[in-house]
Amino acid sequence: TTVIADRLSVVKPSPSMAAKARVDALVAEGRTIIDFTIGEPDFDTPAHIVEAGIAALDKGYTRYTAAAGTLALRKAIAAKLLRENGLHYAPTDIVVGSGAKQIIYSAFTATLNAGDEVIVPAPYWVSYPDMVALHGGKPVIVTCSADDGFKLTPQALARAITPRTRWLILNTPNNPSGAVYSLGELTALIEVLNRHPHVWLLTDEIYEHFVYGGVKHVAPVSVDTSLQTRTLLVNGLSKAYAFTGWRVGYGAAPAALAKALTLLMSQSTTCPSAISQSAAVTALNGPQDCVQEAAHMFEKRRNRIVELLDAIPGIECLPPDGAFYVFPGVAGLLGQTTPTGKVLGNDIDVMNFLLDEAGVACIDGTSYGMPAHLRLSFATSMDQIEAGCKAIAQAIARCK
Ligand code: PLP
Repeated sequence: TTVIADRLSVVKPSPSMAAKARVDALVAEGRTIIDFTIGEPDFDTPAHIVEAGIAALDKGYTRYTAAAGTLALRKAIAAKLLRENGLHYAPTDIVVGSGAKQIIYSAFTATLNAGDEVIVPAPYWVSYPDMVALHGGKPVIVTCSADDGFKLTPQALARAITPRTRWLILNTPNNPSGAVYSLGELTALIEVLNRHPHVWLLTDEIYEHFVYGGVKHVAPVSVDTSLQTRTLLVNGLSKAYAFTGWRVGYGAAPAALAKALTLLMSQSTTCPSAISQSAAVTALNGPQDCVQEAAHMFEKRRNRIVELLDAIPGIECLPPDGAFYVFPGVAGLLGQTTPTGKVLGNDIDVMNFLLDEAGVACIDGTSYGMPAHLRLSFATSMDQIEAGCKAIAQAIARCK
């Protein structure tokens, strides 16, 4: 007998949390580890936003807010969606959560009946399948190969849709692959969705501002605004404003879904932190140079890490169009023998080998639904990128 409910059995601990625990354990033993597992910007929240948080405390904005978030913040989000994405949403269509993650989780609580299917293109952010399963839904994983740029094709989408399909999740820019859907690719996917009006679209655009090489982020629903009646657009401040610990994300949805999400907020967290919401208004309405600066910095690091990793025999690293991860293929390393006599049988072996032999932490692609790959975050300093890639190259050179 156990106190733990049956439904918990379908949930796995987050692999990034597990990776962090491995790194912490080695560091506690006195080892130096170069950490490429980090899923957040490595710099502080911009000063003018921090000051807004402090001002919120001084002004006594320390009480419960409306469950959907303050009107000031929902207006700032509506203004952002119009300014940056050309989308028209009323403040009543917007729900603020304690991170984008809470919005996505609540969306499944609000909409999934047992056995409902959710199409999850792989590689995927690890939380989607588990959140779906936790709600009795069925994640339908559709593998998107490197040859297709790790992107869902209209053919694969059409094959995956059944009468039970409730949602398609599109994460652009994608964690972990960095794939960014172009206008043309979105148009083709939307043509399929238009043939299946029972399928709703959940777009996770949390990495929107980190796009490289002249690539532009396109909000999928902006391609065909008639889809707004069955789309939940999810975004947040975590990545763009180095705001992860403040916990503010949001969803924009048809009013009935927004209302259901608000009901769940009111019966779970009541509302996101009032202080954080106040700072978020300043982040969204204030100057945006900090976002541009972060994007430029990430682009330089992305160029360098791709160059260094791709030069290593056995590793194939394509430049990601967005987010702050590279997702190199390591099929070329499989079958090799390490200096201690172990055979690298899969990407998890490679991850463990790099941790032990190179002192470099990254995450296996298997965790993201795509074996024979690794995810490395470049939200870390150029020095760490240089040193880490050098250590990886040296360790791999010792394999046979
Ligand atoms: N969506 C994706 C694809 C992410 O990678 C993350 C964070 O790692 C989130 C959502 C969650 O963001 P938030 O901090 O707003 O909950």
